Amino acid sequence: MNIHEYQAKQLLARSGVVVPPGEMAATPDDARAVAKRLLAEGHPRVVVKSQIHAGGRGKGTFKSGLQGGVKVCATADEAFDRAWAMLGQVLVTKQTGPDGREVSKLLVEAAANIKRELYCAVLLDRSAGRPLMMVSTEGGMDIEEVAAKTPERIVKESIDPATGMMPFQARKLAAALGLRGDLVNPAAKLLLGVYRTWWDCDASLVELNPLCVVEAPDGKRSLMALDGKIGLDDNALYRHPDIQAMRDLAEESPLEVEASHHSLNYIKLEGSIACLVNGAGLAMATMDIIKHYGGEPANFLDVGGGATVEQVTAAFKIIMKDAAVKAILVNIFGGIMDCDVIAQGIVAAVKETGLKLPLVVRLEGNNVVAGKRTLADSGLPIISGDSMADAAQKVVKAAVK
Ligand code: GDP
Ligand code: MN
Repeated sequence: MNIHEYQAKQLLARSGVVVPPGEMAATPDDARAVAKRLLAEGHPRVVVKSQIHAGGRGKGTFKSGLQGGVKVCATADEAFDRAWAMLGQVLVTKQTGPDGREVSKLLVEAAANIKRELYCAVLLDRSAGRPLMMVSTEGGMDIEEVAAKTPERIVKESIDPATGMMPFQARKLAAALGLRGDLVNPAAKLLLGVYRTWWDCDASLVELNPLCVVEAPDGKRSLMALDGKIGLDDNALYRHPDIQAMRDLAEESPLEVEASHHSLNYIKLEGSIACLVNGAGLAMATMDIIKHYGGEPANFLDVGGGATVEQVTAAFKIIMKDAAVKAILVNIFGGIMDCDVIAQGIVAAVKETGLKLPLVVRLEGNNVVAGKRTLADSGLPIISGDSMADAAQKVVKAAVK
């Protein structure tokens, strides 16, 4: 699960990471009120930031023609105008794809006088089986580009999960960022806070891009996270009801949300052949074999080891809502599952949904003879596949007809 920048900053602040004062605003009036309060507190300017689950907002373009999803404003009325121009509009960035994302929330916060833009992230280093903190002096840029062109500008520190990040590691990274004198201790504290956020939230990624050296009106310099991104491990979300409450369904694909209500593992893809499979490994093998025979899968769909008739019906309904689907392949291996239960589920779902698309079914395993008989006796035009290869070839052929 992903969360918005304003929510990520709330979680970061809990661990002592310094973030600018600010508040989420969902209407232009709210934006003006927050801006007014911040300006009254003595902040010279505010920044109005589009909240979408994608980066590259600063350099993004709204479909309305407005340039930039991040705007610095000098007055509360200007914040109102900027909010009015952004809310309800679709922002297209390098990360959203051409469809863009509709902006329905803003973060209005005190603008900073930026002196340097740095980068900091914590993620799981899978090959080492340990957390890894990465920092770079090249903040505010596309980090993939930095990694490709100037990898020496990314400094990495592997962390022992048993002890957590050690203060000496944080100081080492602060030095690598060129932070000296008065900034070393606050930097070390901030980096330790970033690590603690990652650990305490069961995050898969915490990224500050940019982490900034900022200058106050009195000339004093300090460090602040001006952008924050947190990705969470879905398998650990049950431990964090407060973070679960941050889920924004409007940012997720409607079909994927619907699937999650039925405990189905569904991911929409670009192709035309829908698959309904039990087990993640078999689902991936099914997508591979569809591709092998020249087709393109329309989705990944794992109904799990013990799917019910209701789940199979829900899965069919979700598949059929995808207008790109031209044929369906059901590939079930009855290990835990009884093939006849699945067959009854398929028949019920086809009848209930009035399915018109070609449907190829390959059943194997527990009680398969009864399952095949149920399909044959149903009188429905279901194409039977004898093996995975046979079923894949049949569905690819059916999809191009
Ligand atoms: P992203 O483009 O989605 O990654 O959004 P960011 O939050 O990183 O903002 C993009 C850029 O806007 C930053 O790299 C900064 O250059 C600029 N920006 C963000 N906040 C401020 C601020 O408080 N003051 C100033 N002057 N610029 C800011
Ligand atoms: Mn950023």
